[in-house]
Amino acid sequence: MHPLLLTPLYRRYLWGGRRFATSLGRSLPPGEDFAESWELVDRGTDQSIVAAGPLAGVSLGELVRERGHELLGRHAPRAAFPLLFKFLDACRDLSVQVHPDDTRAARLTPPDLGKTEAWYVIDAAAGSRIYAGLCDGVDQRALAAALRAGRCGEVLHSFEPRAGDCVFIPAGTVHAIGAGLVVAEIQESSDVTYRLFDWNRTGADGKPRPLHTEAGLEAVTQCGPVAPVASEAIVEDGTATRQLVTCDSFVFDEIRLGRDWTVGGDDACHFLAILSGEVHLDARWQLPPLTPGACVLLPAAIGRQVVRAAEAAATPPTLLHVQLP
Ligand SMILES: [Zn+2]
Repeated sequence: MHPLLLTPLYRRYLWGGRRFATSLGRSLPPGEDFAESWELVDRGTDQSIVAAGPLAGVSLGELVRERGHELLGRHAPRAAFPLLFKFLDACRDLSVQVHPDDTRAARLTPPDLGKTEAWYVIDAAAGSRIYAGLCDGVDQRALAAALRAGRCGEVLHSFEPRAGDCVFIPAGTVHAIGAGLVVAEIQESSDVTYRLFDWNRTGADGKPRPLHTEAGLEAVTQCGPVAPVASEAIVEDGTATRQLVTCDSFVFDEIRLGRDWTVGGDDACHFLAILSGEVHLDARWQLPPLTPGACVLLPAAIGRQVVRAAEAAATPPTLLHVQLP
């Protein structure tokens, strides 16, 4: 096993843009725009593929199912990698959605995971908004009435986020990412989304896109307003760690690197996404420097790793760190 660089899976939807290049330093494939870039996925035919090194060409799913103990350590065995990490470039408001929790999703045909997710704002154009939860005092009944009247926007809680904000969206919370945001998202690897409201717009064919009002309302279990995570960074040996989310599905941290930072050695895998600056892993892996937009999965079997800031770094590199709980 070695640190795994995975090939991004780009997704083109109506609402995408070109900011994976401008905000994240990616060299994008030709094409007009890209809405999502899936960095870590093991879901049926959607597979992250190892991009380089001795395991190049192998899918994440193969590693989970055939070399689970080396990859996942104490979290093995698993039928599939339980998390999905992606970047999103929202040039238009996304539809208002809700996902079921694990219990509700397990009752579906076929059964699925619920979807608890968290967002980290990478870039926020002036005036862009996040919609998360409902305004104070709005319950399921008031939400249903607003949906019937086409006025869902009036009961959604929203705020203007800043780069560096993290928003935790437990399953059952109504939410939408607004136009102007570039976001990193960690979520349970689930496919169940109920669209509650599409801002009274029409789709590419000129018709309104289907809504899933009944199933969606049934899935709403969290009504109150959701604010950005308020955690403070803890500085140790020059590296500032901000614990963003610890939940049943994932642990999500922001790391501002000092000179170096040690990760792993706990019989578990670790996923890193570099947002700014330049970092190096141990020279024996023969990896290129990891620059903004780079993501790497560190298998459990490779043990403790030192992540080192490049010498010339003017500002401390910023990383997102994901692990299984
Ligand atoms: Zn969602």
